[in-house]
Amino acid sequence: MAQAGNSELVDAFEQFFRNYYDNEIKQLAQQYPNEQRSLHVDWQELYRFDPDLADDMLAQPEQLQRYAEEALRLYDLPIDVSLGQAHVRIKNLPETETPEIREIRARDMNSLVEVHGIVRKATDVRPKIEEAAFECQLCGTLSRVPQSSGDFQEPHECQGCERQGPFKVNFDQSEFVDSQKLRIQESPEGLRGGETPQALDVHVEDDITGEVTPGDHVSATGVLRLEQQSNQGEKTPVFDFYMEGMSVDIDEEQFEDMDITDEDKKRIYEISNRDDVYEKMVGSIAPSIYGYDQEKLAMTLQLFSGVTKHLPDGSRIRGDLHMLLIGDPGTGKSQMIGYIQNIAPRSVYTSGKGSSSAGLTAAAVRDDFGDGQQWTLEAGALVLADQGIAAVDELDKMRCVTGETIVKLADGSNESIGEIACQAAAGGTIEPLENGQTIRGVDLAVRTMTESGVIVDRPVTAVHQYEAPSELIEIVTEDGKQLRTTADHPFFIYQNGSVVERSAENLEIGDRTLTPQDRSSVIADGGVVSAESAHSAGRDVEPKEIIGRRRIEGDDWDYVYDLTVEGTHNFVANGMVVHNSEDRSAMHEALEQQKISVSKAGINATLKSRCSLLGAANPKYGRFDQYEPISEQIDLEPALISRFDLIFTVTDTPDEEKDRNLAEHILTTNYAGELTTQREQMTNLDVTQDEIEEMTEQVDPEIDADLLRKYIAFSKQNCHPRMTEEARESIRDFYVNLRSKGTDEDAAVPVTARKLEALVRLSEASARVRLSDTVEQSDADRVIEIVRSCLQDVGVDPETGEFDADIVEAGTSKSQRDRIKNLKQLISDIEEEYDDGAPVDIVMDRAEEIGMDHSKAEHEIEKLKQKGEVYEPSTDNLRTT
Ligand code: ADP
Ligand code: MG
Repeated sequence: MAQAGNSELVDAFEQFFRNYYDNEIKQLAQQYPNEQRSLHVDWQELYRFDPDLADDMLAQPEQLQRYAEEALRLYDLPIDVSLGQAHVRIKNLPETETPEIREIRARDMNSLVEVHGIVRKATDVRPKIEEAAFECQLCGTLSRVPQSSGDFQEPHECQGCERQGPFKVNFDQSEFVDSQKLRIQESPEGLRGGETPQALDVHVEDDITGEVTPGDHVSATGVLRLEQQSNQGEKTPVFDFYMEGMSVDIDEEQFEDMDITDEDKKRIYEISNRDDVYEKMVGSIAPSIYGYDQEKLAMTLQLFSGVTKHLPDGSRIRGDLHMLLIGDPGTGKSQMIGYIQNIAPRSVYTSGKGSSSAGLTAAAVRDDFGDGQQWTLEAGALVLADQGIAAVDELDKMRCVTGETIVKLADGSNESIGEIACQAAAGGTIEPLENGQTIRGVDLAVRTMTESGVIVDRPVTAVHQYEAPSELIEIVTEDGKQLRTTADHPFFIYQNGSVVERSAENLEIGDRTLTPQDRSSVIADGGVVSAESAHSAGRDVEPKEIIGRRRIEGDDWDYVYDLTVEGTHNFVANGMVVHNSEDRSAMHEALEQQKISVSKAGINATLKSRCSLLGAANPKYGRFDQYEPISEQIDLEPALISRFDLIFTVTDTPDEEKDRNLAEHILTTNYAGELTTQREQMTNLDVTQDEIEEMTEQVDPEIDADLLRKYIAFSKQNCHPRMTEEARESIRDFYVNLRSKGTDEDAAVPVTARKLEALVRLSEASARVRLSDTVEQSDADRVIEIVRSCLQDVGVDPETGEFDADIVEAGTSKSQRDRIKNLKQLISDIEEEYDDGAPVDIVMDRAEEIGMDHSKAEHEIEKLKQKGEVYEPSTDNLRTT
């Protein structure tokens, strides 16, 4: 530290301000205190003024900030105002003081650092008492007690009468400041190959509160402090870092961390000019996965994305492309979409099974991140992936339990989930689904587990009821608890000190699943959590061993059930904590509008989610059935499916030539891996370097992943293509031709205008791959080819062989709709003839007479019953409503 007295340092700051910040200070004086209360100082300028002073600032930030603020107070101002409470907030530190969040270590304690990341959680802004004025109830004297961040401090005795109170806090005389807590997580672009992002909590006060929203990319500068962890109320020797924030600024720049050198640019241009640039791209995506050239080309287009358009009327058309892979298990879908992380300049990968408590969109909850009363807004995957790609595996996961399952309610009582659904249906609003219903507006709260393993009470936002699948899994734990769930229902498994999630079908005997302990620390939503329990590493749950697991037939159950518990996405079922699904309604809007609105209690926020969704899902019945329309085969609602620009289906059918090539490819990939391991581990190897290189070359990406990331970022930043007349003509002709097949009175509508927008986006992306500012006819033809083949797979009614947009857009094909109409007509005709409604067997006979498939008719009747359009006045008799 420079050997200077206090007053010299204050003088130094005064001089610095005069040289560098005179205008800013004069402006501050005019705006103070209502519009502005801080002078924002760039550290680099301080360094230019006096390197020693700047270094002192880093070493002893607190003291130096005080001197700087003192200098501000003493500053000669043209108007008569005192900047008494104004802050000096430093930012823009040198690179040596901007560690990655994961690099922060004990030595960084009390030092000034700047971190970059994305705001994952933010509490609402609440007043915090800084100095409490205690009024003695006996003599009326005010005793002032400064409050630090720990517990609330009361005076030992009255400063007037020296008696021990009683005291009352006098709010008017106390000093309050606005305070807020943020959690900043490492940006997705800084992470390679699926590292788990680390986070740092930042406490901010006064004028810098309420300035950022979850999802914002920010730089936060402040002093690192320690906070002691505690375990079940006991303090532990381990501490957590948090930052006392001096400044928090939104980073506007996209991909700011990407250093694209001139050399890189040269290589990028070179590749972009090659005739085989598209093949090169395809050869750079998941090279270990054989085949899927068209899917990989589509993923390439998704990486580059189309142009976001702002129309003259103020509306906006997204440029981002959403894409879905649905297919048989074990066909490499997960591998492929996981690879996106290696090459997308910004991406978030999550499996529908796990993912953060905010799920895919966002959550507003009262939890232990705040003080237990504060609302916290948390960004989910689609927000964290803003301006990038959200890769979501197992998008369709169905997490349900059977109706007799007992759920622990907030008041500690028990109720079967079937009964809960019944009661909810009576009071809530019902949204019919293809295979069940969702009930909202439910007045119910249940026990649920937070991220830190604390059991709390939370409201249920929706109850779901689905047709039971043909197979279920039954689990038995060592303490005799039993639970029946769908095969992919995730359980929390305790493993080596941490909690992982595993689906019911992948559970093994001996796995230990979490069960709530009988402890009294249950915190009601909105109840106060003490500072200790908020930071408690102690859990209210304990692991119990699974001693039985078997597959059972689903036929004994008509329905299975699920609850949406906001923010935690789990509940206590038959004494076990089980994961549940999230409510998807926010997601549909997010994909189209690319923003997520949260309005709840005091929170009204709009989070940006300008990202592309790359989803993967498995068919509901295990394997694809090419004779069934797609909407019948996946557990995704039409409102979601129709948002995808491209849907690929992946079927796994034996084919000798393909199988041979696939086998060869997988064996080569593995062999190359073996050689690499041997080269690293063994000294004398009987394989030459050339041989090794030849093998690895076959499985290396064509364009190095690092360069490809830069290529994509560069193109997205610099390339804004426009369509040529030829390209527009190609797309127009394709669309009109396809539609013309639907002009017959009786025909289905083959495609809707949504596809047209998809074609535009795709062809713009295709131009961007070449770094071209014009969309040529070749781009249009390339994407027409892809769209045609996707439509062939999912847009054709298997019963008629005709294109039918409603399969995707409405979830019901025209032939299905006709069948339903015919059936209802049949039933209402037949019920005229009988007193007690139309007998089912007569309905089935007549249906068969008019050429309807027996099982299809059965299925449709079942659905009509579910939707309440047909009911059973007595067993095996039907009546229309
Ligand atoms: P899915 O998600 O479709 O169920 P996975 O991505 O988990 O399938 O793939 C299962 C395994 O099979 C992975 O190890 C993957 O590498 C391998 N595999 C499947 N299809 C291919 C393929 N076409 N080329 C190379 N490997 C494949
Ligand atoms: Mg998979």
